[in-house]
Amino acid sequence: MKKLSRKTFFKGLALGTISLPFFIRALGGQNQAQPSSPNIISTKRYRWKMVTTWPPNFPVLGEGCQLFADWVKEMSDGRMEIEVYGGGELVPPLEAFNAVRMNVAEVGSGAGYYWKGIVPAAQFFASIPFGLNAQQMNAWLITGGGMQLWEELYAEYGLVPAPGGNTGVQMGGWFNREINSMADFKGLKMRIPGVGAKVLEKAGGAPVLLPGAELYTGLERGVIDATEWIGPYHDYEMGFHQIAKYYYTPGWHEAGTTLEFFFNKEKFDALEKDLQMILRTAAHRLNMWMLCEFETKNSIYLEKLRQEAEVDIRQFPDEVLRQLRQYTEEAVAEEIAGDPFSQKVYASYNAFRNRAGNWSKLTEKVFYNSLQI
Ligand code: CA
Repeated sequence: MKKLSRKTFFKGLALGTISLPFFIRALGGQNQAQPSSPNIISTKRYRWKMVTTWPPNFPVLGEGCQLFADWVKEMSDGRMEIEVYGGGELVPPLEAFNAVRMNVAEVGSGAGYYWKGIVPAAQFFASIPFGLNAQQMNAWLITGGGMQLWEELYAEYGLVPAPGGNTGVQMGGWFNREINSMADFKGLKMRIPGVGAKVLEKAGGAPVLLPGAELYTGLERGVIDATEWIGPYHDYEMGFHQIAKYYYTPGWHEAGTTLEFFFNKEKFDALEKDLQMILRTAAHRLNMWMLCEFETKNSIYLEKLRQEAEVDIRQFPDEVLRQLRQYTEEAVAEEIAGDPFSQKVYASYNAFRNRAGNWSKLTEKVFYNSLQI
């Protein structure tokens, strides 16, 4: 094949003077049917179970698990069928991780920070306060080196991970108390999970662990003064706007939480290669679908909230966010102390955050400012 310089090649491609077949050949691929042995597709059939941390049919997250199962069935022409169980239907929600390790089910769905008691480093593959947003999480995982670390980590637990969704940036939560300065966090009883809870504690607040089903009555009766949840769509469905005065932004504690699938490694490794690729591809498709669904629904429900309820939407003061970020640095340092793998993951995560932050400061931040939104 004629040698072309890299510059001429891409210029030619852009101008259309280099044809697509040439392009494919240049990449080392084939553009013509080559005689080859006919594909032999195994007829072995699998019926797998998926355990999830979401309530049965939970909007977006639970629905997504079912979509994943439907896509896998369709792509494999019925060779792989996955039955999806909501949290508590087969095992309790937070037991999903161990259930897949023990082969009670072959697949699980959840978020890494749920298992940080078992695998401290797992939380970096979900979200930490003031962490990566959805676009950056995807970039870090898919082409920035995160995935290799995640696979290495989960292999130790007999699992294969895959990104399976992202919530996008969340809201800061519903408050029955104004937050004008750090002093307003003193004694604040708030439902907030993970490292965010540690940060609240450092700020003088009292994190409260309440299951989702008890949040509404807890807030209504003053058992808690505030709760975070997800964003306008899910929050509207929970009815928080009926009982809370203020809706705060941003969700500093969850800027773009990645949700995950995890497969029993022995079962996954024993699959035919095409089925492995089908599972990975369906997970990636869901990863994209879910972020889109959150973006679409959250923007619609924000409008609904504004129209139907007298929600007072507030922004945390800059000084409050600055202080929370400082507490986050302390909290993360405490989290990774004594766990070499967490330190390794955080080093990669943090280096990526700094580089991506510099890039978005120059582009997305300036762009958003130009829109004056
Ligand atoms: Ca949340």
